[in-house]
Amino acid sequence: MNFCSHCGSSVRPFIPQGDDRERHVCSDCGLIHYQNPKVVVGCIAEWQEKVILCTRAIAPRIGYWTLPAGYLENDETTEQGAAREAREEAGIEARITALHGIYELPHINQLYLFYRAELLEPEFAPGVESLDVRLISEAEVPWSELAFGVVGTALKSYFNDRRNGAYQLHRTTVQPGAI
Ligand SMILES: [Zn+2]
Repeated sequence: MNFCSHCGSSVRPFIPQGDDRERHVCSDCGLIHYQNPKVVVGCIAEWQEKVILCTRAIAPRIGYWTLPAGYLENDETTEQGAAREAREEAGIEARITALHGIYELPHINQLYLFYRAELLEPEFAPGVESLDVRLISEAEVPWSELAFGVVGTALKSYFNDRRNGAYQLHRTTVQPGAI
């Protein structure tokens, strides 16, 4: 960032007193602009033996497959955010059933929460951020065409759990390039 969002003056990198890392500090009003990780919420929406996957219509990774997910908004819970993203990206009404996993991506300052959800009806349609939406079985998952490693990591643990007949809460640090 170059300018203070409070007063418009220039900011400079500076370690504030008592802190241990550089922050963007306003040269005029002194406001410290903290930057913290973003929370991404999404869901694995089930209908019988299949789950909802979307192809991305927006950068990055246009045309690649992903679970419906996006940044948590202010004034909503993570469950509400996951259901909203499912509605916006896949045109589905999903009932959130359980937290599937917490995926930490410190290298890109993101924290993902994926919920399991049940489709209320097998009805879906791509929203403006999706090119296509499909119900896909485990055998049909395009593993080499997934948009992000975290999506593959979450899907693999989901299908493993389902095969074992026991769903667990997963907590994983996803490395760069992971799938
Ligand atoms: Zn300022």
